[in-house]
Amino acid sequence: MTMTAPSYAVDLARRLIQCPSVTPIEGGALDLLQAELEGFGFTVTRLAFGEGAERIDNLFAIRGGDEALPHIAFAGHTDVVPVGDEAAWSHGPFSGVIDEGRLYGRGAADMKGGIASFVGAIKALDDANIPTGTISLIITGDEEGAAINGTVKLVDWLKDEGIIPDFCLVGEPTNPAIMGEVIKNGRRGSLTGKLWVTGTQGHVAYPHLANNPVPALLAMLAPVNSAKLDGGNAYFDPSTAEIVDLQIPDAAGNVIANRAFGQFNIRFNTEHSQDSLMGWLSEHFTRQADKYQLTYEVEWLCNAHPFVTPPDSFTQKLQQAITAVTGRQSALSTSGGTSDARFLCHLCPVAEFGLVGQTMHKVNEHVAVDDIDVLTDIYSGFLKQE
Ligand SMILES: [Zn+2]
Repeated sequence: MTMTAPSYAVDLARRLIQCPSVTPIEGGALDLLQAELEGFGFTVTRLAFGEGAERIDNLFAIRGGDEALPHIAFAGHTDVVPVGDEAAWSHGPFSGVIDEGRLYGRGAADMKGGIASFVGAIKALDDANIPTGTISLIITGDEEGAAINGTVKLVDWLKDEGIIPDFCLVGEPTNPAIMGEVIKNGRRGSLTGKLWVTGTQGHVAYPHLANNPVPALLAMLAPVNSAKLDGGNAYFDPSTAEIVDLQIPDAAGNVIANRAFGQFNIRFNTEHSQDSLMGWLSEHFTRQADKYQLTYEVEWLCNAHPFVTPPDSFTQKLQQAITAVTGRQSALSTSGGTSDARFLCHLCPVAEFGLVGQTMHKVNEHVAVDDIDVLTDIYSGFLKQE
């Protein structure tokens, strides 16, 4: 193992990790990023949203460039999830220690390493006197938290300011095992339903004097019990629905309960919308309630709508940059959980590509130092306009 000095991007990742920025604490991470970006000629605006304990610090940076070239935005977050069992870490979670070619610390993968790579890419282009178009960075301190006072408000602010990038690249870790595997060009939506069914309580030996809510609840939940809701489409796998909770409050061995509860979550693609799913299920619930002659209440929670960026010249350029550096053909994927890309897609076309995500949110989070340099090269290849 060679003991060469770490690259600028690796060193910046290390310094960002050393800022203990567990949501909602800024921890010095945005201050550090601001100072670096100002050094590269960016105009930086700090935007705090929310009050009291919910107040979140965010950052927007922009640098003008060749008007004939597209405006590329980079989006990410400097906040990190809590460290978990600190004693179980082999190196301190905010140490930024490099050991055997790996950089350790909370946020190494998700996603301080990605931010450092993007800034490193700008530095590399500047050092080589390569012209760029307008570049901006949309950085929140609220991705791992409630996500209320972060990207969603930054997007509103950018629209008000009339700042609309041509394309936004999100630096979340997208690669399952090695660099260059996966670009995310969309995400599924998420809809939760909480369903209460009310019947009539009674003695279990005299069911004709009661109305058990459980058979009705099970009939109502049947379409969302480990079900595939469609056949998928060109960009998405089939939508899926899973029951995640079942309860009979105050259950007793000789009592037919009067209430039963079930909760489910649907991960849905662009074949559906929040309204179409709620309409379909509400109709089904009402039909079952009529059949079993009892009442129900349902509470809906939708925190993500599905979106997709169909392959375009930008995703193509990103794939070319990935192939040039890694030799790999990256897949476009819409799998996985939600991300802030669900808000950014209302601003401009968006895709996500970053580091290897294997250790994100885990004890001993780390990335290969080489991967940060690889990502820096990919980002600079993407930003380079020939
Ligand atoms: Zn993240």
